[in-house]
Amino acid sequence: MIINPFLKKIMQVFSWQRAVLKVGSSLIAPGGANAGCSAQYLLAIAKFITTALTQGKEIIIVSSGSVAAGRSSMPLNHPPSIAEKQAMAAIGQTQMMQNWARFFDQPCAQILLTMDDLHDRQRYVNIQNTLRELLRHHAIPIVNENDTVAINELKVGDNDNLAAYTALVAQADTCIICSDIDGLFDADPRKNPQANLIDKVEHITPDIEAMAGGAGSSVGTGGMQTKIQAAQRCTASGIQTLIVNGKDPEVFSLLAEGRCKGTLFTAQDTSNTARSEWLKHTLKSKGRVHIDSGAAHALVNQGASLLPRGLVSVSGDFQPGDAVDVMHDNLHIGKGIALFSSQEMQHIKGHHSDQIERILGYTPANVVIHRDNLIIL
Ligand code: GLU
Repeated sequence: MIINPFLKKIMQVFSWQRAVLKVGSSLIAPGGANAGCSAQYLLAIAKFITTALTQGKEIIIVSSGSVAAGRSSMPLNHPPSIAEKQAMAAIGQTQMMQNWARFFDQPCAQILLTMDDLHDRQRYVNIQNTLRELLRHHAIPIVNENDTVAINELKVGDNDNLAAYTALVAQADTCIICSDIDGLFDADPRKNPQANLIDKVEHITPDIEAMAGGAGSSVGTGGMQTKIQAAQRCTASGIQTLIVNGKDPEVFSLLAEGRCKGTLFTAQDTSNTARSEWLKHTLKSKGRVHIDSGAAHALVNQGASLLPRGLVSVSGDFQPGDAVDVMHDNLHIGKGIALFSSQEMQHIKGHHSDQIERILGYTPANVVIHRDNLIIL
């Protein structure tokens, strides 16, 4: 595809390593009520994903479309009830997964989440660990809401916000939301031909929210509100967010070159991310791990994870998923989320990671606190 060089020049440039890509029902099942899944728009998206993976980048797809895809297998002559929609989701989910799988040589991994899963710290850590392993093994995680079990108050409700939560749990640096319009406009482009695309947003002000059809707005751009909510959630935690037109193949050729044809919401300063604040202030430590100088040096100066080898002693009674204080020479140097219980750590402390299996009989992880879940104080 030849891309107009002028277009490239005015486009926002961005760099990224780990992105969540949200693909909505209108891209998965564009043919309307009874048409099921289609490849029409996914081809360009899949090509972008493959290019990105070859560049060594990591992608997690948040895909809607289970209800839309299942609808064709469950024709009804009345509007579906909640239970009927849940049944459609159960049928459509496998079709949607198959639809994605045919584009990739890599394995596709299905992850179904509800709000409850994200609130529960133990499950949160499990989701995080699973995603990390999948990415490490070059699989493509495909996340959707677990529509079959979740109704109303247990639901995230929309996949824009689900994409934001997924980006947070996966510690992505970028969240790309595919829309069916080119990005955020200062007026509704379907009603107002003078509407201008906003190519960059540095702060989500009330004016920006109003453009998305928030309170007091007369220019509702339909579906933009949840996208702005998602952008807000992400950017506040240091994750840049893009809203692009998922039906425009040029968008994806440009994304592969690190250019955003759409709206780029820049990330807020990451020194105080919501996540590190959450870890620092909200989570109460259940114990302490005392580490040797080698480990302290690796943690503080090299951004390393904590290995069992670096553990000198362990105090307190904690479970995997609990926060623990990291101590060295009686100094409190960090705080992190333990991947092993205090009892397990007592057994593996001072040993090499490859001994964990022999000592415990299983290997839940190779490190006792992963770097992603560690803050240095
Ligand atoms: N989870 C729903 C589905 O797969 C879609 C929700 C949304 O698109 O916002 O059909």
